Amino acid sequence: MGNTLRSRLLLSYVAVLLILLALVGFVLLAFLATRPLPTDEIISDLTAVLLDVRAVEGARQGTGMQQQGGVGVRARLTALQEMLPDYLAQLSAQRGVRALLISANGVVHYDSEGTLAAGTSVDLGEQIPLVPTGRMRLNTLYQGRFRDPDGNEWLFVAQPLFPMAEMHLDLPDLVVAAPVPRQTLREVFRVFGGTFLRPLAQAGLIALVIAAALSVLIADSVARPLRRMSVAARRIASGDYRQRVRVEGPREVQALAHAFNDMAEQVAATQQAQRDFLANVSHDLRTPLTSIQGFSQAIAEGVASDPEAARRAAQIIRDETARLHRMVESLLDLARLEAGHLELRRQPLALGDLLRGVGESLSVKAREHQLELRLTIPPDLPRLMGDGDRLAQVFTNLLDNAIKHTPPGGLVTLSAAVTNGGVTVIVRDTGEGIPPEDLSRIFERFYQVDKSRHRDHQSGLGLGLAIARQIVEAHGGTIKASSTVGQGSTFTVWLPLRGR
Ligand code: ADP
Repeated sequence: MGNTLRSRLLLSYVAVLLILLALVGFVLLAFLATRPLPTDEIISDLTAVLLDVRAVEGARQGTGMQQQGGVGVRARLTALQEMLPDYLAQLSAQRGVRALLISANGVVHYDSEGTLAAGTSVDLGEQIPLVPTGRMRLNTLYQGRFRDPDGNEWLFVAQPLFPMAEMHLDLPDLVVAAPVPRQTLREVFRVFGGTFLRPLAQAGLIALVIAAALSVLIADSVARPLRRMSVAARRIASGDYRQRVRVEGPREVQALAHAFNDMAEQVAATQQAQRDFLANVSHDLRTPLTSIQGFSQAIAEGVASDPEAARRAAQIIRDETARLHRMVESLLDLARLEAGHLELRRQPLALGDLLRGVGESLSVKAREHQLELRLTIPPDLPRLMGDGDRLAQVFTNLLDNAIKHTPPGGLVTLSAAVTNGGVTVIVRDTGEGIPPEDLSRIFERFYQVDKSRHRDHQSGLGLGLAIARQIVEAHGGTIKASSTVGQGSTFTVWLPLRGR
């Protein structure tokens, strides 16, 4: 199960999903842990406390103040300062707030917590009015934050004790404070669990279902054509070469299907060629064997009694044996080609001499066919690295073909010239030519243009050009053919001077 395309896809989807969910979860947690908590409620609580205090304190002082009438602010302050600490300590204990007296310029007069000593100053930071007022600080309520020496942050609401005497900056304001709310880890997890866990889990579940469906769909679109291909491959293996697969699925699979079909075609063609080859070989072996058998029997039985007849019979036997020998040589060459090791014995080579030698050896045959064989080989042709025997085989084969396929009275030319870093050798005839549909295939193994056309002593196995191409390419060269039916053919071989 873990090995199918489908399960692998599903696994990868699930992995991506889990990673994503974990990431989202992590981001949400981080968001929850760092988000500032709302302070409005605390501020309004503090304001309520402060106003209460003012009301109570105002009522308490009301009578006294009326009596004192013009008594100065200083005197009232002294009176208050004596009375207030006790009252504030009580207040802070009762209402759970920190109560302080701090001048608007930050000098501390009293702190119910005791951490801010009287006389020290504290930074009250930005002071934000709670109720919009005019230019006067009359009855101003303001809020802000301060940090005490322990580093804890406090929210506060404050009001001047003597709004009318605001010129005296050293007069304290009444300040009530509460700690800035802090997010505890447990709280963060509680909010996360209550708000986000469920939707996240639901989203994960839905995504899982989609992922499963997708992995089935995608895997199937790949696996189905692959399964078909493996069935077809097995059929081909068991000998049914007509198997082809439908081109479908993703592009890569389509490419594979195309390649598969090409391969099937090639295998079928090769099979056909092998079959043809076997038929050709048996046919081509039988012809000389039959005549060898016939003529040797004639000699043995004394039928060819006169010496001339016996000599002729022996000559035929020798020719046929030579033919058999050539065929076996070609087959061996082919076997080596197929095995992929055509060994070259390379040495500096006078290609001009080699070509002249090949021309020489085929001049008799050309005369027999009543053809003119013309050689145009420049005397100063440079030497190149190559296997002389193999290259002689190539040009012999090309000249031999040209002679075979050119009717009497024709012209066969063998020419050579130096061209772009190599030597170009051209074998041209004025023979029957090669039809365009065959031209591209004559270099294939066993390919013969018209099998019925050459069923005579001269016919080969359709291997000559295939072997020639292998040899030329092993030298790092190229071989090409062009032809016009009825006018003749041209074979062009290019060999590099330096070799490969
Ligand atoms: P073969 O041994 O049958 O000649 P080759 O590989 O040498 O095989 O040639 C392949 C086919 O190409 C031959 O069957 C022949 O019909 C064709 N061919 C080769 N050379 C020529 C040529 N010069 N003119 C016409 N046909 C040619």
